[in-house]
Amino acid sequence: MKFIFVTGGVISSLGKGLTAASLGTLLENRGLKVTLQKFDPYLNVDPGTMSPFQHGEVYVLDDGAETDLDLGHYERFTSCKLTRLNNLTSGQVYQTVLNNERQGKYLGKTVQVIPHVTDEIKNRIRTLAEQSGADVLITEVGGTTGDIEGLPFLEAIREFALEAGPGNVAFVHVTFVPFIKAAGELKTKPTQQSVAKLREIGITPHLIVCRCERAINREVRQKISLFCNVPVEAVIEEQDVEHTIYEVPLMLQRERADDLICGLLRLDLPPADMRHWQEMLRKIIAPRHHVRIGVVGKYIGLQDAYKSVYEALLHGGVANDCGVEIVRVDAEQIERDGADKHLHGLDGVLVPGGFGERGVEGKIRAAQFAREHKVPYLGLCLGMQVASIEFARHVLGLEGAHSTEFAPDTPHPVIVLLDEQKKITRKGGTMRLGAQPCQLKLGTRAAQLYGSFMANERHRHRYEFNNAYRAAFERAGVVFSGLSPDGQLVELIELAEHPFFLACQFHPEFLSKPHQAHPLFRGFIAAALERGRKQSS
Ligand code: GLN
Repeated sequence: MKFIFVTGGVISSLGKGLTAASLGTLLENRGLKVTLQKFDPYLNVDPGTMSPFQHGEVYVLDDGAETDLDLGHYERFTSCKLTRLNNLTSGQVYQTVLNNERQGKYLGKTVQVIPHVTDEIKNRIRTLAEQSGADVLITEVGGTTGDIEGLPFLEAIREFALEAGPGNVAFVHVTFVPFIKAAGELKTKPTQQSVAKLREIGITPHLIVCRCERAINREVRQKISLFCNVPVEAVIEEQDVEHTIYEVPLMLQRERADDLICGLLRLDLPPADMRHWQEMLRKIIAPRHHVRIGVVGKYIGLQDAYKSVYEALLHGGVANDCGVEIVRVDAEQIERDGADKHLHGLDGVLVPGGFGERGVEGKIRAAQFAREHKVPYLGLCLGMQVASIEFARHVLGLEGAHSTEFAPDTPHPVIVLLDEQKKITRKGGTMRLGAQPCQLKLGTRAAQLYGSFMANERHRHRYEFNNAYRAAFERAGVVFSGLSPDGQLVELIELAEHPFFLACQFHPEFLSKPHQAHPLFRGFIAAALERGRKQSS
């Protein structure tokens, strides 16, 4: 087995995750089985308890692990299926080490960062390597070189490389090469300094990936090569993408990053065939059609809070040869100005998942607008719950209908706490999480889109549709098109008398890929396209 470690220098938000994922794409297309892992140096056990302001989206895996959003890139860029082993935080490392200590496993020794913490990190790399059955493991070390909390991870990978022996490990360092306008120059000093920091720890990078706004010229490459001790061809340019993040694998291929890595790891493989990827890119860059989709949420100003939702919309576009313009609508603005002002003229409305009361009334009004104006609607998790509340209030006339999450004393609790949640008080990994089977009803739009009677979808919620209201909803035209196999939990609802009104309790956005859009997103964009056509004809 071969190992690639990706570190980052100078600043955060360099797109290390995308670089790691893109290397994964290239190696997979050269015929290797790859898996990707993320180290997060923070002390939270997982990001499940963090606010979107802190962390962006929490990405959920099949096994219910709540993970860093980079794992979303890994799954979208490759065919690997990740598990909780693929995301390691300092919190988890310390939790294990402290549990071991309490169980007396260290036999009277003083428990220390080196070797106990670093050994635990190395164990985790080995366990994943064994269990994944992959040929190559790409590990991204979160944070920036020089961070105090990242040191144990860097020490661990240095030791790991020594133990793995030459030809088995490649170090890739992603750094920033700023362009200073006043001087009209690209500057290499930050890169030199961050590589110096790595070398101080004992790691000499084999490849230096330079994130830059402008192309780096020969002179800059030579300078980095000379001062950072890498051959000039190992200085890889990764410019800001022009259209989409899915350009990155091709950029790295042009720079021969994968050839270099294969050389270092002594892998003799044919070049990656990226024709299918290029075709997918064409559909993103020059689509034949175009739609505008409103996403109504409360973290609209944040780039990363609805990452997978934005990606899945784009994938739905690819499947329909259609560009998707995302109009980000703040739910609280709808509360202030009414839905019409913000949603008028859009081809589709999507309400993503969420927690807490802020903005909920705005989301309810967005669902109402979509239902009444026959605008295609896709509701995800909270997006299904607000659609149910809206229907109860305005179609069934149940005044004050609500979810007990937001109104514990509502006279019409159409959304209630899941039974299994009633005893739970601890936070962190305690929601209904991960992949659960869903039985689809014959003849519904959902069954038609999936082309199947079963789906397996990822969840992250505590509340559910209240079955006491099922009959009334059905009489008024709601179709319960997806249920848990025991029939107890509502997973998917749709409206019969509507061009496309579909809402699910799960998160389909976590299973969508650029060249394999999730069926619900494919169907949603197709319906939006249809509406756009009708409006303009
Ligand atoms: N807050 C809702 C619940 O816990 C919805 C969760 C979500 O949208 N992920 O059920």
